[in-house]
Amino acid sequence: MLTTTPLYALLLQVGYYTGTTSQHASAGYSAATMGMFFLIILIGVVGFIVQARLQSVFKKYSKVTFAGGMTGAEVAEKMLRDHNIHNVRVTHVAGQLTDHFNPQTMTVNLSDAVYSSNSVAAAAVAAHECGHAVQHAEGYTPLVLRSRLVPIVNFSSQMAMWVILIGLGILAATQNEVLCWIGVGMIAMSALFSIVTLPVEYNASARALAWLESSGTIAGVQVTQAREALSWAARTYLVAALSAIASLLYYVFMILGRRE
Ligand SMILES: [Zn+2]
Repeated sequence: MLTTTPLYALLLQVGYYTGTTSQHASAGYSAATMGMFFLIILIGVVGFIVQARLQSVFKKYSKVTFAGGMTGAEVAEKMLRDHNIHNVRVTHVAGQLTDHFNPQTMTVNLSDAVYSSNSVAAAAVAAHECGHAVQHAEGYTPLVLRSRLVPIVNFSSQMAMWVILIGLGILAATQNEVLCWIGVGMIAMSALFSIVTLPVEYNASARALAWLESSGTIAGVQVTQAREALSWAARTYLVAALSAIASLLYYVFMILGRRE
């Protein structure tokens, strides 16, 4: 969902410089729009690097086993039990890095590389997903807010590009900006969603690491390794949030630049 935003930007950027109203655009906003466009590309490159680093760190710690030899599934079961959570099931899901907690089905879904692996990486991911289950059980506010945003963002992220495209047409023809700003509001929902995701993800990792250590599941250097793996996962969310904010500013500057 968030990764498609630069494509919108590219499409609209093309429209911007071929549009008939571009001669009216103020030079300042035009420069700001271009600046945001290149910033979005730069963040995309950084995102690619972070994603590659995340995969290599996980690959590395997927080969490191720890004393006790629990699988990801066993780590998850133990963390849920230790938090007195008995209504969440641990299940197996296909794919790579597809691990997630599903509050609708009350399941912690662990991927191939995590479910039956007894590596440090598997323990870190399993505990992180259980961190979300604990957040859900406690009614952790950012998680509640994030869940409420999901249906809104699903709708608005699909419609925003069309609303802005039609809005730009109306702006050019009638000088009425209302539809443009409605479109920007829809993009702002995606940005808000990616910002609210940050405390949810960082907090789940913090809970995971605290429990992994306090329960004695992992110890010593392996705690550092688990922390490193989860830090790279968190950075992917940070990059996504920065990209969403840059996209939002891109549209704001573009519309301001198209005013008479
Ligand atoms: Zn998470």
